[in-house]
Amino acid sequence: MLDDTLAFPIRVSDLKQWAYCPRVWYYQHCLPDVRPITYKMQHGIEAGLHTEELEQRRSLRLYGLTRGVRTFNVALTLARLGLRGNADMVIDTNEQGERELIPVDFKESKIAGDHVKLQVAAYGLMLEETLGIPVRRGFLYLIPLRQAEEIAIDNRLRKKVEVVLQGMQRVMTHETMPEPTSSLSKCAVCEFRRFCNDVM
Ligand code: SF4
Repeated sequence: MLDDTLAFPIRVSDLKQWAYCPRVWYYQHCLPDVRPITYKMQHGIEAGLHTEELEQRRSLRLYGLTRGVRTFNVALTLARLGLRGNADMVIDTNEQGERELIPVDFKESKIAGDHVKLQVAAYGLMLEETLGIPVRRGFLYLIPLRQAEEIAIDNRLRKKVEVVLQGMQRVMTHETMPEPTSSLSKCAVCEFRRFCNDVM
């Protein structure tokens, strides 16, 4: 059987880590046992499951839609980009006259930061290229606020996803350590700082 971790070595969640600091992703990728599942991560997983339960009873008005079919925990891959991931929810609708797939990511956060927008765009690219159906937008559902923020999956965001993935692929191919974050204030509170002797 094909090993997904070899065929699709990059997880969608890796994009967020890379955007925060490429080395955080590098250490996680190369030293996967270093970082245990923290309370915060576990809480995020449980909050996502609870949101899925609630979502099944909610109307689609939150997303500006009156009709559509929701599917949860949708496994996606894209060989061209070596990417794999599970979209929390995909809405299949034809409300605007043609069929449209809309990925939704549940986040235990009050802010739709650029790094999590990358994840929504990545799900969009995977859906579009796998199923051949246009994906123009997605949503981040911010669990603490119970609000959905629309994310335009435009050319700028698509390009950004591709650039990040190319950077990751270069690191994996050449097994080189990426540059540190340009925001060194992140290093002071980073759990990997003991490995980054050149920035501390
Ligand atoms: S110490 Fe700084 S450069 Fe190193 S992984 Fe952490 S945030 Fe990145």
